[in-house]
Amino acid sequence: MGLIIQKYGGTSVADLKRIQNVAKKVIKTCDQGNLVVVVLSAMAGVTDGLLNMAGQVTPSPDKRELDVLLATGEQTTAAILAMMLINMNYPAYSLLGYQANVITDREYGNARILEIGAQRIKEFLKKKAIVVIAGFQGCDIKGDITTLGRGGSDTSAVAIAAALDADICEIYTDVDGIYTADPNICKKARKLKAISYDEMLNMSSLGAKVLQIRSVSFAKKYNVPVHVRSSFSEEEGTMVVNEDSCMEQLVVSGVTHNKDEARITLKKVPDQPGIAAKIFSPIAEAGILVDMIIQNTRAGGQTDLTFTVPKADYKRAMEIEHKIAKEIAAEKVFGDKNIAKISVIGVGMKNHSGVASVMFNTLCRENINIIMISTSEIRISCVIEEKYAELAVQVLHTAFGLDENENI
Ligand code: ASP
Ligand code: MG
Repeated sequence: MGLIIQKYGGTSVADLKRIQNVAKKVIKTCDQGNLVVVVLSAMAGVTDGLLNMAGQVTPSPDKRELDVLLATGEQTTAAILAMMLINMNYPAYSLLGYQANVITDREYGNARILEIGAQRIKEFLKKKAIVVIAGFQGCDIKGDITTLGRGGSDTSAVAIAAALDADICEIYTDVDGIYTADPNICKKARKLKAISYDEMLNMSSLGAKVLQIRSVSFAKKYNVPVHVRSSFSEEEGTMVVNEDSCMEQLVVSGVTHNKDEARITLKKVPDQPGIAAKIFSPIAEAGILVDMIIQNTRAGGQTDLTFTVPKADYKRAMEIEHKIAKEIAAEKVFGDKNIAKISVIGVGMKNHSGVASVMFNTLCRENINIIMISTSEIRISCVIEEKYAELAVQVLHTAFGLDENENI
């Protein structure tokens, strides 16, 4: 007998018929002799609807009250599912975040879980009841309702799995797993049987659509095995596990692309102590996240500095840098919004040499120019012209042996 946490996302509970389908899946798992704790999202579109409603009251709703409002979405689905289960003669109890003792900090709208007092859940489990917990919500130490950020019910589920020391945390969603590339642009992309926490954390553009990134950090910290799978089929999905449990020994597990960044270059910047700080401090103060940074080698006491920022912040960042360039006597500032960042990710890189050269050679064969390069232990990223993003993903996917029917 196992203890299984099952989280169902918005599309899986989009209407009563789908919640009925969830009830059946939960019951099936119980009948197989398991204890089940269910964590639910709000019905698809409901959180957006609530946000919209608040937006009609005021453009900047009070954060505390907004969380009280947003938490109602999950309250509805939890109560409905518990009701259905009871009606099918399975004892069940719904618990809201505060009732399940999901204690968070006071960062309304993006709260972090500090601890979960699992005793209430355990009492119900002792009685062999099904516990249905409203995801996405908790409360601070004063008892005020908080929410965990968009997609936060994934983190609720993983945190509850960690607190209960569950055997597995199953995330039921509308995709059937994690793919080696975005199947919309790479027809040969295939579903991975397993992926490590670190790879998943690095696959932000592929993975973040499926799991809230914070839930993956949580799973890694507490070593919770996570199974991402579809709620509309019985097929196995993708296991997100620690590195040692990954069965597939791939050098590269995925190729991702990101078109959300823009590049800014400051040309002929004086090469002196304190200059980088002058360039980046105002960007940080403006709350703009910098991703890649490259500084060229010194020539004639000057250097060029290039970095990337989210496209949405490009205009603001350019304005800031134009001012800074004057202050520090840099020759000029220019930028480019039409870029894409292509990354290959894999823990196998740690023990294999030549991954970077395969990547560069593959791009070279297609005559794709590399504008920037950055590397980490398990990832190599190249910035290229945006128009080549799809082609780059496809050729790299093939070059690293990821195409369907290979290496399986
Ligand atoms: N309902 C929340 C959202 O739409 C939380 C979640 O579904 O995970 O973001
Ligand atoms: Mg989600």
